[in-house]
Amino acid sequence: MPLCVTFLGTAGAVPTTERNPSGIFVAREGEQLLFDAGEGTQRQLMRFGTGFSISHLFVTHLHGDHVLGIPGLLQTMDFNDREKPLAIHTPHGTRRKLKGLVNAVGNRPSFPVRISEVGDGDVAYRAEEYEVRAFETDHNTNSVGYALLEDERKGRFDRERAEELGVPVGPKFSQLHEGNSVELEDGTVVHPEQVVGEPRPGRSIVYTGDTRPTVTTIEAADEPDLLIHDATFADDRADRAAKTAHSTARGAAEIAARAGAKRLALMHISSRYAGYTDDHIQQARETFDGEVFVPDDGDELEIPYPDADV
Ligand SMILES: [Zn+2]
Repeated sequence: MPLCVTFLGTAGAVPTTERNPSGIFVAREGEQLLFDAGEGTQRQLMRFGTGFSISHLFVTHLHGDHVLGIPGLLQTMDFNDREKPLAIHTPHGTRRKLKGLVNAVGNRPSFPVRISEVGDGDVAYRAEEYEVRAFETDHNTNSVGYALLEDERKGRFDRERAEELGVPVGPKFSQLHEGNSVELEDGTVVHPEQVVGEPRPGRSIVYTGDTRPTVTTIEAADEPDLLIHDATFADDRADRAAKTAHSTARGAAEIAARAGAKRLALMHISSRYAGYTDDHIQQARETFDGEVFVPDDGDELEIPYPDADV
């Protein structure tokens, strides 16, 4: 089941000709989620062909470069006669301000928009096979990051072993795989643990939004398959990163290493580094030996299962 991330906007507070303000699009089994919606997000959705069937929008904080795309996006959804509700999740204390943005141009959307506040550890959205959980970040304002955490999957079904035990091919296979014991015609009982392996881990994505490096990001997921972290600055502006409650690439990499992340996407790149992110990459690699990259707008990444190569 594909889990696919599209980087809609990877700029810092000021966009560049190459980078739009923040937006991360995630598609999983026909469901579309959006994390932050900087100005121009709707055009990025069009450019990169993702579609507009977003069911949940997760807002990390109310700085303009993360939310100014909301009024335009909602207006277009309205023009497209959307009926499906949209759930918006936003940090504690920001609901009123966000509601103001939703109704910014005077017309309420004709489809239901539900805004709910989330805080550290809250499950913002529980889906059938995964959840999106908020975690506290450190950005001198009400802010959270989000972790998409898939449930464990059933263990592998050992078909050969089942046949050896005399289980007839058919419904008994799925009963066993579902965790139920079955009785064969000769009265033998076969238990699931005889033919089903250990549960297998799901996939996980952690998105920090804007933040200083913080331990809550490390705790958000165990060995995330993808960590999308603030890396507004390189080492040359480390003091500025600390002061403005952002991270350097190196700071992001330290968090990635401590979290045991498999991949690190460096996001929210300041416009001062337009066209040049080699320092970000190099400084991150000195600390983190997983995969590191600075995504361009429009880059897509399909997240494999942790056990895909087993
Ligand atoms: Zn910010």
